[in-house]
Amino acid sequence: MTCKDLAERLGAYRAGELPLGARAALLFHAGMCPCCRALLSTYDVTVALSAELAERQVPDAVALEFDSMIERAMTLAAPS
Ligand SMILES: [Zn+2]
Repeated sequence: MTCKDLAERLGAYRAGELPLGARAALLFHAGMCPCCRALLSTYDVTVALSAELAERQVPDAVALEFDSMIERAMTLAAPS
């Protein structure tokens, strides 16, 4: 299993949907790989924070400023 494989299967793992063999391979890889151990340990927090953020509304002033920043960046990045 590679780091990419682990990342792709993480949701299924946390949902309890991985077959035993795939679960064992994931846990074995995480045991050998510090990056994936960190990913496993932060996954639940990330999912919880993402769900919380999805429920929040962006204030209109912030959305307008963001649009303006994107327009400026695209103007600067435009080919001359
Ligand atoms: Zn890894």
